[in-house]
Amino acid sequence: MHRRRFLQNMGLSLPGLAALTSLSACKVSATDANTSASSEGERVIVVGAGISGLAAARHLAEQGEDVVVLEARNRIGGRIWTSEKWAGVPLDLGASWIHGIDGNPIAALAAKAKARTVVTNPDSSTEYLADGSEVDDARAKAIERWQSKMEDALASYQEGTDKDASVRSVVERALDWSSLSDDDKTLVSFGLNDYEHEYAGSVGQMSALHFDSGADIKGKDVLFTGGYRQITDLLARGLSIRTGHVVEHIDWDSSGVTVGTNKGTFHADHVVVTLPLGVLQSGAVKFGSSLPASKRTAIDKLGMGVLNKCYLRFPKVFWPGTDWMTYVPDVDKYGQWEQWINISRPTRQPVLLGFNAADFGRTIEGWSDTQIVNSAMGTLKTIFGSDIPAPVGYQITRWASDPYAQGSYSFNKINSTPAMRDHLAASVDDRVHFAGEATHRDSYQTVHGAYLSGIRAAKEIAD
Ligand SMILES: Cc1cc2nc3c(=O)[nH]c(=O)nc-3n(C[C@H](O)[C@H](O)[C@H](O)COP(=O)(O)OP(=O)(O)OC[C@H]3O[C@@H](n4cnc5c(N)ncnc54)[C@H](O)[C@@H]3O)c2cc1C
Repeated sequence: MHRRRFLQNMGLSLPGLAALTSLSACKVSATDANTSASSEGERVIVVGAGISGLAAARHLAEQGEDVVVLEARNRIGGRIWTSEKWAGVPLDLGASWIHGIDGNPIAALAAKAKARTVVTNPDSSTEYLADGSEVDDARAKAIERWQSKMEDALASYQEGTDKDASVRSVVERALDWSSLSDDDKTLVSFGLNDYEHEYAGSVGQMSALHFDSGADIKGKDVLFTGGYRQITDLLARGLSIRTGHVVEHIDWDSSGVTVGTNKGTFHADHVVVTLPLGVLQSGAVKFGSSLPASKRTAIDKLGMGVLNKCYLRFPKVFWPGTDWMTYVPDVDKYGQWEQWINISRPTRQPVLLGFNAADFGRTIEGWSDTQIVNSAMGTLKTIFGSDIPAPVGYQITRWASDPYAQGSYSFNKINSTPAMRDHLAASVDDRVHFAGEATHRDSYQTVHGAYLSGIRAAKEIAD
């Protein structure tokens, strides 16, 4: 996810940051069966140690509540996951960027963690056509023309109706797709796939009315040279976190909540559920009492998108020094290896990162690593020639197949509405509270949205 068109206008306070270094140890000492009943504060279970769960737990612990975090994986961070597989080259397999550093709480945390960041510039880009030739000025102008026609088509659709349709169908109708030359279809397809990289949903499923409902963000995009985990490690400091605890069911009544895991049952006054939308949709975690109809509808109708990464490490750099490289494949290779980022500047290593989103991103999850690397190399050989060196290493993600994510981030599917994110966020009976990126109406899909949702859920309890 990068080059975001919508930049957030947050105007945020930074709850919890001031006290970040002062929290020594969490008061909760959960047994296998119960959270401690010794504290005078509320007993709270947080499900999930991603950024939203850590933010919630930290805020609650700082307010004197008795908190334990239950996390299914054997690591914290969730969709923030810095790989240390290549010594000295930390690579983010999930989130990479702070999107819009102005007023962004993650930028404040990065400063607190003394984490080094580098700016990436969306305008620093080299573009290539299907035959590998560089896009010339005339073709660059044609790409821009088609992109603004698409934007206009979608904007006027949003103004003219409240009946939803897919982004693809609106664009194809407005541009009279069947009358376009093959060349123009290729350029339009390239533009459509750009939306998929932005929002992770398929344009065939993305709501034309609401695909871009998120708030604008402000400022530059930066990524971490030492990995995003510096943020989650900072937030996790001193908290009571049980990794390897897979939550299986959540029950509640007027006396409290019961959370069943593969390693025993936990009781508390409240639970904060930060399960990713994809996990909620899968039904892997059972809710004892029925969730409100509006919440069930939100879970059902919002979409969970896919963005996958393929890092390739080479013996030397053979690509240009721009931050980005884009590739315009033929229309029959729709969505394949269109976007690359040059990671050699932040890592000081010859590393390229290729992205695949939506349908193609999902398809290749079923391929072997070798097939994926060969496919990526096919595109790079088309651009740079068949004598480029073979990669000496690769790292590949499969977020849709990950049982504890079931996708990369949420998007607005046809017939979903922005209000559904509020329904997803709403607490139930003042016992079961919900957080996570998908619950943030304005900044869904982002780390800062997830973080803020965790603070919001914690405040529901602490205040
Ligand atoms: C490839 C990729 C690239 C991205 N790029 C960016 C980016 O550059 N910038 C940006 O701002 N955002 C980006 N995002 C989005 C960002 O990573 C997420 O919005 C954010 O990390 C979500 O945090 P969360 O706390 O809501 O969810 P998660 O991080 O998913 O946390 C939920 C936690 O719940 C745990 N869990 C799941 N099931 C169970 C269970 N049954 N029992 C117990 N625990 C369970 C999970 O293991 C996980 O740790 C990207 C995401 C991906 C996948």
